[in-house]
Amino acid sequence: MVAIFLLPILLAASQVKITAPGPHVAHRPGVFNPAREDRLDSYWRRAQQEDYRSPEELAAQIERDKRRGRQIPLLMRGNPREKIIALTFDDGPHPETTRALLAILAKEKVKATFFVIGFMVERDPDLVHAEALEGHEIGNHTFSHVTLTHLPTHEARTEYRACSDLIKSITGKYPAFCRPPGGDYDARVVRAGRDVGMTTVLWTDDPGDYADPGTGVIAQRTLDRLSNGGIVLLHDGAKQTLLVLPQIIEHAKKKGFRFVRVSELESSATARLVR
Ligand SMILES: [Zn+2]
Repeated sequence: MVAIFLLPILLAASQVKITAPGPHVAHRPGVFNPAREDRLDSYWRRAQQEDYRSPEELAAQIERDKRRGRQIPLLMRGNPREKIIALTFDDGPHPETTRALLAILAKEKVKATFFVIGFMVERDPDLVHAEALEGHEIGNHTFSHVTLTHLPTHEARTEYRACSDLIKSITGKYPAFCRPPGGDYDARVVRAGRDVGMTTVLWTDDPGDYADPGTGVIAQRTLDRLSNGGIVLLHDGAKQTLLVLPQIIEHAKKKGFRFVRVSELESSATARLVR
C-alpha cells in the first residue's frame, strides 16, 4: 500500500529537471541540455557555425551611425600611431584549451584579454581565476552567448550583469569591457553594457579561427592584417589557434608590435567614439 502511494512521488521526483547552477541569472535565454557535457558540446556546435560580423561590416555600421548623427560609444581600435595590438580570446574558459593557451602566453610574455561566457565560467571557475592571476584581463561575453540585439534591453542587461557578477565573484573585480556575441550590436546593446559599467569592444581583425580553417589560414589571415592599435579576435576553444599562436606572436614581435590588454589599448585609443 505504502509502495503504491509512494510510486507517483518517486516517479515525479525522477522526472524533476536538474537545472544548471547559476543563482545570478534571472533570465537565461537559449536552450541548453542540463547535462554539463552536453551543454558544452551543443555550445561548440553552434559556435562553429557562428556568423561573426567582419571588421568591414563593423566599420560600415559605425560609419552609418555617424552619418545619422548617432554616437555609440564603443572601442574598435587603439591608437593607430602606436605599434600595439590586443589579442582577445572569446568563448572560454574551455577545459581543453585554456591551460595550454595560458602556457603559450606565459612563455611568450604576452598579456591578453579573455571575453568569457558566464555558463563556461560557472563550469570552470578555476580557469578564469588562473587567467586573472597571470595578469590577463577578463572581459564579459554575456552569460549564455545569445544575440543581444534580439533581446529586450533589460534582458541584454541581465545577460551582461549575470556574467559580470560571476567574474567579480572569482577575480574580485568587475569587468570594464564587454563584447556582444557575433559582434551584433546596436545602440541599445551598447547602452546595456554601459549600464553594467562596461565599454563595448569589437575588433579590427577576425581570422575566423572558430571555423577551423587550418593553421596556415589562421596565421596568414592574422599576419596579413596586423596593424597599429589592432584588436585581434581569436577563440579559447579553437585548437588550431593553439598550434599557430606562438608563430603569430613571434612574427608580430619581429615586426615591432607590442601586445597589450584591452584596457591599455583603450587608454591610448583615439578611434573610440564619443561617450
Ligand atoms: Zn562568442
